[in-house]
Parts: sequence; C-alpha cells; structure tokens
Amino acid sequence: MKVLVTGGAGFIGSNFVRHLLAERLEVEVVNLDKLTYAGKLENLDDFSDDVRHTFVRGDICDAELVDEVMKGIDVVYNFAAESHVDRTSEAATPFGRTNVTGTAVLLSAALGHGVERFVQISTDEVYGELPWRDPEAGREATGAQAADDAPRFTEDTPLAPRSPYSATKASADHLVSAYHVTHGLDTVITRCSNNYGPYQHPEKLIPLMISRALTDEPLPVYGDGLNVRDWIHVADHCTGVLAAGERGRAGRVYNFGGDAERTNLSVVRTLLRVLGKPESLIEYVKDRPGHDRRYAIDFSRAAHELGWRPTRDFEEGLADTVQWYMENEAWSAAVG
Ligand code: NAD
Repeated sequence: MKVLVTGGAGFIGSNFVRHLLAERLEVEVVNLDKLTYAGKLENLDDFSDDVRHTFVRGDICDAELVDEVMKGIDVVYNFAAESHVDRTSEAATPFGRTNVTGTAVLLSAALGHGVERFVQISTDEVYGELPWRDPEAGREATGAQAADDAPRFTEDTPLAPRSPYSATKASADHLVSAYHVTHGLDTVITRCSNNYGPYQHPEKLIPLMISRALTDEPLPVYGDGLNVRDWIHVADHCTGVLAAGERGRAGRVYNFGGDAERTNLSVVRTLLRVLGKPESLIEYVKDRPGHDRRYAIDFSRAAHELGWRPTRDFEEGLADTVQWYMENEAWSAAVG
C-alpha cells in the first residue's frame, strides 16, 4: 500500500505519518510538503530514516510535480493547507491558492492515476458558528448524544463558513464532493474540531500560551475569552482519519470531536494551573474580527460506522501536552 500524505511536515500531518508508520507496517509513505513557515523537518526527526518514508519538498499547486508523485499511489490524505485563521486578515490569497487550487490539482492527478481513495482533511469551521452556551452547563452530555438544547454540528449541517480560512476549506470540500459525483472518484471528507498535542506550531493557542506562561509573559485572550471550542487530542484525530480512510464509505463525510467543549478562558486557566502560574498573567485583547462564538461536534456517525471515539480526557491530555513542550524546548526554539 503506497500512500501520499500532503502537509506531512505540519502539526497534524506529521503526527499522522508517525501513527501510520507505527500502525501499518506494510505501508510506504510519500510525504509532500512545501515547508512553509508552518512545515518543519524537525517534526519528522524520529522517522526521517525510516525506509518506508520518502519526503518530497514541493507545492501541491505544482501540477507537474503532483503528477509525478501521484504515480503508483493507492490512497491520498490531503492535510496540506494554510491553516491559521488569524493570518487570513493579513492576506487571503495563499489560503485560496493552497486550500482550493492545491486541492483541485491533487484531485485531478488522483483521478488521472486511478487512485483508490482520496481523503480530504477538513474542519468543523466550514459549518460556521453555533449559538453560545456555557460548556460547564452540559458536561454530562456526550458528543455522540447531544442534548436537545445543545445543538452540535452534524455532517448534514449546511456549510456556512464565516472566515476566509473556512471559506477556502468549504470550497475544497465542495470540489472533493463534486469529483465524487461527477467522476466517481472514491472520496472521504473528515471534519474535525480544534486539535492540540505535540508538534503544534507555536502560533496556535495552546503552545503559544504554554511558551508565554513559561517565561512569565502576558497571555493574550481575545475578547471576553468565552468563545467555545471542542478540543481533541491530535492522536485521537489521527486514529479517526485512518479509520475513515480505511473503513469510511465512499462519498461520505465524517465529523470528529473530542467531547471536550471549553471556553478559551477555561483552557488558559487550566494551563496556568498545570504550570503553577498566576491568573494575573491573563491579558484581555481586542477580539478577532468575525470570531466564531461556538463550535461543537456530533461525532455519532464516526462512532456508529467506524467504531471511533475520542480516548483522551482533555485535562489529562493538556497536562501531557504541557509536559511535552517542557521536555522539547529545543524543538520549540528551532520551529518558533
Ligand atoms: P499546519 O499549518 O501545522 O500544517 C500545514 C502543512 O501544510 C505545513 O507543513 C505546510 O508546510 C504545508 N503546506 C502549506 N501549503 C502547502 C502547499 N501549497 N503545498 C504543500 N504543502 C503545503 O496545519 P495543521 O494544523 O496540521 O492542519 C492540517 C490540516 O488539518 C489542515 O487541512 C487543516 O485545515 C485541518 N484541520 C486542522 C485543525 C487544527 O486544529 N489544527 C482542526 C481541523 C482541521
């Protein structure tokens, strides 16, 4: 089995390649990554010598290169993306280019080379936002059995992206579905909530807050800090993507969530507690324009069809993650 992973030097992509090589001994992985500011060869250090892994530095928008690497590929996992919402307020063009054009180039090559399955890694942000509710009020409700008064995104929720990032991800999802309908390409789309864990770029909320707290710098929290996200450990996301890639139904979308809705403020407070730092480090800053109020995931389809559930308790996963960043300061210094 020969697999093409794009964006495999990024946060989730590198965790996925590590997981795939560990779980599927017979697999051969071609890892295509442009190494933008977000892609780091340091993320591949522990498996860069594995003969089953080949790294190719390149752009998914480069049709000639993509055509070359697609030869002999059985399954594509497309993680490559411009992924940081905050950067879309600076310039949306790279988002359109990589997230939309790049996906179109990959789809065309996958079809041309008779690839067996194309897995598109998408996000819950394509669904837009949900009305706010206090996550502390509904801890007993699980993601697979959402309470009536706590709406969550299902795979049937209409796409209503609100940021340039999520608009490009939604466009890519439409393209993937269109290739399935029009050309019969076997596709699966995965939509996941906010990830945390090892190898995440220091610009993202959790590693940013850890690194600032460790040096006693102020922790910037947007607006009132009450925006709600559903946090999933990257290892749980990776098992979900592999399950969808191997056992998902063609043309299907699968949601993945961590069953851990938390406000940003609650995440930051937990981090401070784990690190033994004072809450006085919290600094409220001007909110991000168009900041979605709440995301929450109903993952019952993944539970029923794939037998998947998140396995990591959020507070334990967060403590492990803090530990990882403290033990890997050299990595943080190299990628930061
Ligand atoms: P990331 O920014 O850490 O990694 C993206 C990778 O893609 C980098 O290695 C980068 O070099 C590479 N890349 C960017 N443009 C490229 C191009 N034109 N050609 C080839 N490679 C290119 O992102 P991430 O957080 O690991 O996210 C991976 C995927 O998962 C994305 O598609 C994202 O939309 C999706 N996702 C992320 C989250 C999250 O919480 N991080 C949640 C849901 C979905």
